[in-house]
Amino acid sequence: MAEKQPIYILPENVSRTIGKDAQRNNILAAKIIADIVKTTLGPKGMDKMLVDSTGNIIVTNDGVTILEEVQLDHPAAKMIAEIAKTQESEVGDGTTTVVMMAGKLLENAERLLDKKIHPTVIIKGYRLAADKAKTILHEIATPVSDKNILKQIAMTAMTGKGAESNREHLANLIVTAVDQVASGKEIDMNSIKIVKQKGNSIEDSELVNGLVLDKEAANEFMPKKVDNASILLVDFALELKNPEAEAKISVSTPEQLQQFIASEELALRDMTNKIINSGAKVVFCQKGIDDVAQYFLAKSGIMAYRRVAKSDMEKLSRATSGRIISSIHEIRREDLGFAAVVEQVKKNDDTITYIRGCKNPKSVTLLLRASTDHVLDEVERAVKDGLGDVSSAVKDGKVVSGGGAIEMEIAKRLRQYAKTLGGREQLAVEEFASALEFIPETLAENAGLDPVNVMTELKQKHESGHAKDGINLFNNKVEDCLAAGIVEPVRVKLQAIASSSEVATMILRIDDVLASNGRVSAMPKPSYDGMD
Ligand code: ADP
Ligand code: MG
Repeated sequence: MAEKQPIYILPENVSRTIGKDAQRNNILAAKIIADIVKTTLGPKGMDKMLVDSTGNIIVTNDGVTILEEVQLDHPAAKMIAEIAKTQESEVGDGTTTVVMMAGKLLENAERLLDKKIHPTVIIKGYRLAADKAKTILHEIATPVSDKNILKQIAMTAMTGKGAESNREHLANLIVTAVDQVASGKEIDMNSIKIVKQKGNSIEDSELVNGLVLDKEAANEFMPKKVDNASILLVDFALELKNPEAEAKISVSTPEQLQQFIASEELALRDMTNKIINSGAKVVFCQKGIDDVAQYFLAKSGIMAYRRVAKSDMEKLSRATSGRIISSIHEIRREDLGFAAVVEQVKKNDDTITYIRGCKNPKSVTLLLRASTDHVLDEVERAVKDGLGDVSSAVKDGKVVSGGGAIEMEIAKRLRQYAKTLGGREQLAVEEFASALEFIPETLAENAGLDPVNVMTELKQKHESGHAKDGINLFNNKVEDCLAAGIVEPVRVKLQAIASSSEVATMILRIDDVLASNGRVSAMPKPSYDGMD
């Protein structure tokens, strides 16, 4: 018999993990990721200190930030980190919850795999459970009845974060900001600009009815402050763009040169006169402003800014109700915007311009203040969570009880639902329910309470019809959390359930991992890795 030739299909540097190994490897990675963020969950969660390769330090409690900063190597771990990002961009909060859910769904799936239940059965069960959970969520969510609920949502989002001590003040700013820029249920988050300023304390943070720009006027002879400012917004350069002038100019006598300069000056004078005559007192220009034009504007007491970012021009337009003009010939008085004050303030080495007191602005600025950069960054993350939650609640008009109450109630109803299912999917639906219970359990554990006791009490309460009971970590009591002001928007939970079940089922379906860099290590990396 002829000797068999080996057949090479995959390149040499491709490593392959197949079947059970691939599955277990991926599940392990997901569990580890969930474990990393777990201790940060809830108001009593701890913070993580992350140090990158250059020595930069981030102290945070925010799930997505942690996963973004940690260099993840494992493909399944990366998939999990990805859903945290989706949660952040779709809802703005609930990133720790979604990662923990995904990890727990996979951990529980492993139990079923151990019982020889096929992945496709688990996948089907998880799908059924996720759909049912969404229906239940819609059923038991309560409508947003007043602004106070929105404030409670913002406060719940910020509990336990860097901003905790001033969360009432910040919650007021957030709710006012969202209310100001919302038109009905539509909210464009780009309309709320966040500006961070080091110095002073968190309680000095404020909502500016207008914009704050990191800029100073083009010329030092311009006024530093203008009251009752008519504002002109232009997106073209206040310069001469004479094509002949840019080509070669041939002057043979001093008189010719004089004449040329005079004609340039005349054109610029004409241009600035149009601005001056429009009644504008402040000009924001997206492009450059010629020195001579600056001089003429300054002489007329006009404040002018050049090279303003396009995104800021749009915000200025929404804030001041001014129209962005694209040609010098189109400047009309009625297109000017308005602000009660435009003021340039120098602080330490930075110069900042405030455009304040706009009438019914459709773009506002949250000016955050704190003593150090690290605190400032964490306050910003907390405020973003609050903004995300409040705008979600405004969009959907529905909220749920926090402190693990909603998870407990969905879990209870899923268990009832499981009984109506024949077949082995039933077991998967039950595991889905127990993954949801991981949230209240961890909330209790992170607060140093006995999770077994808390869970027993919670289960009893829900069995006897107390659907809104969760663990209130202000007083460590199992009670109606909605009534206690621990409130979350329904969207956070909808998205968390959708994303976590999607990623879990996607990972369960994988039975073959081909990695072309030759590394398919579960974290932590095996020690032989990196030795080659
Ligand atoms: P995530 O990144 O998932 O938003 P958080 O650390 O912000 O994680 O924690 C959110 C969880 O904390 C939610 O389940 C919420 O109901 C709960 N929570 C917030 N405030 C309280 C409180 N005072 N008592 C109990 N649970 C709370
Ligand atoms: Mg949160």
